[in-house]
Amino acid sequence: MDAALTSAELSFWHGTAGDLTPRPGLDGDTTADVAIVGGGLTGLWTAWYLLEREPGLRIVVLEKEIAGFGASGRNGGWLSALFPRSTASLERAHGRDAALAMRRAMIDTIGEVAGVTAAIGLDVDLRREGTVAYARSAVQERAARAEIAEAASYGVDEVEWRGRGEVGAAGARGAAVDLNCASLHPARLVRGLASALETRGVRILEGTEVTAVSPGRVDTARGVVTADRVVLATEGYTATFRATHRRILPLYSLMIATEPLPPAFWESTRLRPGQTFTDYRHLLIYGQRTVDDRFAFGGRGARYHWGSAIRPGYDRVPRVFEHLRRTLVELFPAARDAAVTHRWGGPLGVPRDWHASVGYDPATRIGRAGGYVGDGLSTTNLAGRTLADLLTAADTDLTRLPWVGHRSPGWEPEPLRFLGANAGMLAMAAADVEERLTRRESVIAKAMGPLVGH
Ligand SMILES: Cc1cc2nc3c(=O)[nH]c(=O)nc-3n(C[C@H](O)[C@H](O)[C@H](O)COP(=O)(O)OP(=O)(O)OC[C@H]3O[C@@H](n4cnc5c(N)ncnc54)[C@H](O)[C@@H]3O)c2cc1C
Repeated sequence: MDAALTSAELSFWHGTAGDLTPRPGLDGDTTADVAIVGGGLTGLWTAWYLLEREPGLRIVVLEKEIAGFGASGRNGGWLSALFPRSTASLERAHGRDAALAMRRAMIDTIGEVAGVTAAIGLDVDLRREGTVAYARSAVQERAARAEIAEAASYGVDEVEWRGRGEVGAAGARGAAVDLNCASLHPARLVRGLASALETRGVRILEGTEVTAVSPGRVDTARGVVTADRVVLATEGYTATFRATHRRILPLYSLMIATEPLPPAFWESTRLRPGQTFTDYRHLLIYGQRTVDDRFAFGGRGARYHWGSAIRPGYDRVPRVFEHLRRTLVELFPAARDAAVTHRWGGPLGVPRDWHASVGYDPATRIGRAGGYVGDGLSTTNLAGRTLADLLTAADTDLTRLPWVGHRSPGWEPEPLRFLGANAGMLAMAAADVEERLTRRESVIAKAMGPLVGH
């Protein structure tokens, strides 16, 4: 781990997740049945479910920093049923039955994570309070009501309208409340899962950077792992490997956390502990009232870096942190004097068609999952269960879901990728301004929609 970063700088969650002392790394060549590259939730859930299916499997997890160093430990804590492609867009791509099966699987995943964490005894502050999406203009109200109508037409998701008097954000005309959303402490989940796996015999090797992956072999700077099957679980970092450089684009999302705020403040917000919130602007924001009464609040807006570069400094953009603080105060003016105690960020993974996927090639015996964009906290669990089935050649309901085997097109080479990714970001910000000025649905957002996953 970057020695200059303390755990509290890495994220609010890392600062409250207990001991982060790195585990020993790989020490010379070794063998395993399954080698997993990346110690985030995709890698760890895959190990978890593989052991459920075949308890004797020898599994090695190879992690460059520490387990949970990446997005899995730093995210907004929304354990949602969201998938980066909407139900309607999944229906267009795969048909209605497949789209509905995917929605049901995502909703079930919340209960699955809750069940496993309770069974292991992990203290992850999980609360199932739903998410509140504020509608703060007529345009946003139309979007909210359209979403509710769409959910009702499919009959799987539970999204309800709450009127002005029932929600506590400034200027809100009401909100769409999605009941299928929980929240949790992400770093405690990923760190706790790593410890639980270790006690079950999984070797978690930290400080071990993988330099190349090929059938049956994983190269690191500290030795070679020869394994029957290999899983690539590096999400936003996937672009750092030459072979997969254009598969997933790392996009930075940044967050702030405030000091704990008093009960009278929270009463005015009508948010319950663990409840998450957003609104219908185009440049995404997301927040939660933590169980210790802080805001953990994040959003997009940090730019994409040339060549899909990832550096610790990119986690910290003062302009974006200040924008987030101002946006939070705009939503909840009584928070204007709240001290911002933590600022952080990290790369999430965006496939070219915004379609998360999971797959396993029996010919190369290499599996992979990712491309969750900002919806990976629960989707990684579904990926882990599915990869476990695929790697053990089981034919199940999960292996028939439409994201299995999906192949996204690659991202364009530079400079097109740089121009396209940053233009997409600017366009979403411009669309919000356009809607404020014209009070109509943004023409820009409509034009850019197919390119940014809407
Ligand atoms: C700021 C932020 C907020 C988010 N908020 C939410 C949210 O509220 N809800 C939600 O559902 N999703 C959210 N997401 C997305 C979600 O966190 C991710 O989709 C998910 O955690 C991805 O998990 P992963 O295991 O696939 O990848 P990661 O957690 O990124 O793990 C990949 C791991 O691979 C390691 N690695 C990289 N290169 C190498 C190498 N060469 N060798 C070995 N190891 C390597 C990394 O160190 C890292 O630990 C957010 C993401 C960010 C960044």
